[in-house]
Amino acid sequence: MTDYPVWNEWEMRHKIIDVGRRLYDLFFVAGNDGNISVRLNDDEILMTPTNVSKGQMEPEDIVKVSLSGQLLAASNGSRPSSEGRMHLAIYRNRPDIRAVVHAHPPTATGFAVANRDLTAPFLPEVVVRTGPTPLVPYTIPGGDELPASLIPYIEDHLTLLLGNHGVVAYGPTLRDALFNLETVELNARIFLTAHQLGQVQYLNEDQIEALNERYGKIEPQPVPAL
Ligand SMILES: [Zn+2]
Repeated sequence: MTDYPVWNEWEMRHKIIDVGRRLYDLFFVAGNDGNISVRLNDDEILMTPTNVSKGQMEPEDIVKVSLSGQLLAASNGSRPSSEGRMHLAIYRNRPDIRAVVHAHPPTATGFAVANRDLTAPFLPEVVVRTGPTPLVPYTIPGGDELPASLIPYIEDHLTLLLGNHGVVAYGPTLRDALFNLETVELNARIFLTAHQLGQVQYLNEDQIEALNERYGKIEPQPVPAL
């Protein structure tokens, strides 16, 4: 049992809706793409429903599932996202994580389509904030293979590129998960710009060590309210 600080369920439903709108406004999702979840406590997870635009959700649309994926609460016949099992795989393997955001931000997803990861360090804030973003090989979205494919990468990362698919980011709060997702997209855009300009100057080992010394390695944070 993890001693999670208590988060108000309806407050969290509203925050999920705010994040959904932001993903939609940023053009990180099209149509009904993307999914968001928040771990309320040991066994209750709020999750966006399937077949709903993340830009037009209502608090009651959000469904509640258990850690094993059992539907606990839903209104109007809503069902959890088929990619929800990917979120559950993250929660099962990382008790420090309480929010997961998945979207298809176009530049970072372009890297995943080009079969390129974002692991080499070139921006200090990325080194300090999220660390490297590996590329998880493609599996069919919504299938059992997707959550299984993530397992080897979950423990040591906060952001993952999904081959030919998109990005998943997570953190101790919903805000952290969203910021981590935004960081991956910005990182990809900046890489692409530098690459187009003809040269990507990576940070060297000494520079990385100095950053880690000054700002500390990323450790699981105590969990503040969002
Ligand atoms: Zn997706």
